[in-house]
Amino acid sequence: MNRKIFLDESDIPTHWYNIVADMPNKPQPPINPQTGKPAGPDDLSPIFPMSLIQQEVSSERYIEIPDEVREVYKIWRPTPLYRATGLEKALDTPAKIYYKYEGVSPSGSHKPNTAVAQAYYNKQEGVKSIITETGAGQWGTALAFACSQFDVKCEVYMVRISYDQKPYRKIMMNTFGAEVYPSPSERTQAGRNILAEDPETSGSLGIAISEAIERAVQDDQTKYSLGSVLNHVLLHQTIIGQESLKQLEYAGDYPDVIIAPLGGGSNFAGICFPFLYNNFVNGEKTRYVAVEPASCPKLTQGEFLYDYGDSAGYTPLLPMFTLGHKFKPAAIHAGGLRYHGASVLCSQLLKDELIEAVALQQLECFEAGVTFAKTEGIISAPEATHAVAQVIREAKQAKVEGTEKTILFNMCGHGFVDMQAYEDYFAGKLNDHQFSDNELKEGLKDIIDMQPDL
Ligand SMILES: *Cc1c(COP(=O)(O)O)cnc(C)c1O
Repeated sequence: MNRKIFLDESDIPTHWYNIVADMPNKPQPPINPQTGKPAGPDDLSPIFPMSLIQQEVSSERYIEIPDEVREVYKIWRPTPLYRATGLEKALDTPAKIYYKYEGVSPSGSHKPNTAVAQAYYNKQEGVKSIITETGAGQWGTALAFACSQFDVKCEVYMVRISYDQKPYRKIMMNTFGAEVYPSPSERTQAGRNILAEDPETSGSLGIAISEAIERAVQDDQTKYSLGSVLNHVLLHQTIIGQESLKQLEYAGDYPDVIIAPLGGGSNFAGICFPFLYNNFVNGEKTRYVAVEPASCPKLTQGEFLYDYGDSAGYTPLLPMFTLGHKFKPAAIHAGGLRYHGASVLCSQLLKDELIEAVALQQLECFEAGVTFAKTEGIISAPEATHAVAQVIREAKQAKVEGTEKTILFNMCGHGFVDMQAYEDYFAGKLNDHQFSDNELKEGLKDIIDMQPDL
């Protein structure tokens, strides 16, 4: 039995898969908060290039990947698919466990899959500079790399807590040529407002997004870029699942369950959507499990409402599972999962019960991450340990039930720049966090009143 399955460069997908074409219930439109009407392309054109806006609203099933983008993908794609024989043995499970490893990319996660596409389309439309935010630093690094490939300037607002916890991420971004600022910063009105209220704030993704958008709209040749949540971002990630389909075909297997961590939804969508196609069209019964942190449980405890994507309310209103755009999650180490909402596409699929969600505590996740490192030799990003922990749960359950189920999960990033998190875990400094009803009530209290009349 092969332990890993590689593909050739010629196997890199030629098209992205757009799940909107096949969803039984189409996603509800984004709403312009000023007019209360569906937001059109014009509402988005100050911040995104037109080609990405067209992808955002497209319902075409397949969208061709430009040759220039595939050429850059060749640096690290196709990524390997592994059979986790070491983990299976340690768990003594009858389950077969496979994982797709996205940590081989230049930034160490799945994020360059969309960063490269976004930098390319911006360059095509004459954009000189792209501004973004980053949580754990993965997205900022990916975009910095992508911008360096297409000779575009890159400016990054990095959530304060990660800026302090992960100094090497900043240096990686600098190495790719990006400028990096801790968020909230004094460079924007959104940042100054937050600092005036709470000078010691650890920041949040929502705040950093506000800062980046505010900067991007100030200049015609400057655009904003988002590393998750939006339809076009999820679209670009579908190369993960398409490659996995082919690799599992070579292995002679098909997954009963697919598991991925969910921050905004991009890596989850990336691995799941091409398989969901087979549920929709070919009658497959695969389950899809999104894993979120117990301290930021928008899928399992949030509500499906129209809400802003950022904390200052600069974005259109999006229909999604949310904890409220002002919600500030506890400072857990999985920075990439500390986002208040879930993408519109994943939210609609969850609402329609086509995917499932679980929330896990960080101690269980780090324990799983350590087990995975010892058995498979890969030190996972703290975000990715959430998938591993759920995989271990499913594999143990398979043992109890004596079922030989096939599990596929997304090992969406390595943790080489997150070693402080592991040190804190070993030192007993990490805690579980009980999300309270009060946090939920507080987070949603203003949002329920601002629901648009549809
Ligand atoms: C950004 C990130 C996530 C969360 O974002 P999604 O859009 O939900 O994928 C998860 N894992 C890693 C390694 C990340 O970099």
